[in-house]
Amino acid sequence: MKEGLVIKSTGSWYLVKSDDERPVSCKIKGRFRLNDIKSTNPVAVGDRVIFSVDEKNGIGIIEEILERKNYIVRRASNLSRQTQILAANIDQAILVATINYPVTTPVFIDRFLATTEAYDIPTTIIFNKIDRYDHYHKDQLKETIQIYNNIGYNVLVTSAKHDQNIDLVRELLKNKVSLLAGHSGVGKSTLINRVEPTLNLKTAKISDAHNTGRHTTTFTEMHPLGIGGYIIDTPGIRGFGLFNIKKEELAHFFREIFKFSSQCRYHNCTHLHEPGCAVKDAVEKGNIALSRYNSYVRIFLNRDEKFR
Ligand code: GDP
Ligand code: ZN
Repeated sequence: MKEGLVIKSTGSWYLVKSDDERPVSCKIKGRFRLNDIKSTNPVAVGDRVIFSVDEKNGIGIIEEILERKNYIVRRASNLSRQTQILAANIDQAILVATINYPVTTPVFIDRFLATTEAYDIPTTIIFNKIDRYDHYHKDQLKETIQIYNNIGYNVLVTSAKHDQNIDLVRELLKNKVSLLAGHSGVGKSTLINRVEPTLNLKTAKISDAHNTGRHTTTFTEMHPLGIGGYIIDTPGIRGFGLFNIKKEELAHFFREIFKFSSQCRYHNCTHLHEPGCAVKDAVEKGNIALSRYNSYVRIFLNRDEKFR
């Protein structure tokens, strides 16, 4: 028996790497499938597992999954309430955003932050393409950074194109399992290629095209970094969202809103229209950023939001 890290999953095959050796292709013991009724895939990238290897054919069998620090899930398909585990044991999430080219909206950022907050995953926002911003965008960037710094989020600004602050990104990624997210076109691949020139994230994206429809596959991969650590760039990130959260709990995952909510008159205050709402009061006094409050309201009221 050996212990290893699952670095790739196709949903039926798992590539498992133990510390000293080459990765082994593994299957899982049948009983896992039967035991786990909640998720369609019992093992995910990032899992630490105990496995044995068949001497004859070199194929591994995953016997046991070690306890997870955390894991993220998504709906298995639009039609079912079954979930798929996307990845486990994530050290941090990194949201690559842009003020422009393309626009990353505050509500997109705040939805992502609420999600990682719910999963208890430390998150950094990287604003990329700072070489392209005019004065107006730069002011907007400054304001935005302040909003997120004030509530305790780590923010970096980079230009992947001009190699600006890439050393900080390298430092951030070193020896960590990092989940990478952000709109298409914000520069995720370019940024990672600056840190790790041999790593081609584009490969992962192509599989995205096949990753739709009812029987969504769970193809996910962790890309090892030469500096130590891994990048998870799963196409499934798209479907990873708030659906594991109850709407009434949303405020818990906007950390500054949550802080003020204990002072609301009603314990079940939604912070939308109730009298004696400490959250609305804090927004008026400038202690909660209006953009953050607006994101909260929009997500709360959004009919397409997939809450639990
Ligand atoms: P991804 O979809 O998030 O992986 O984005 P890409 O890495 O493919 O980048 C999308 C486009 O933005 C490409 O044409 C990149 O050359 C360009 N790009 C990436 N980073 C920067 C940057 O910092 N500044 C500028 N001006 N362009 C960038
Ligand atoms: Zn309130």
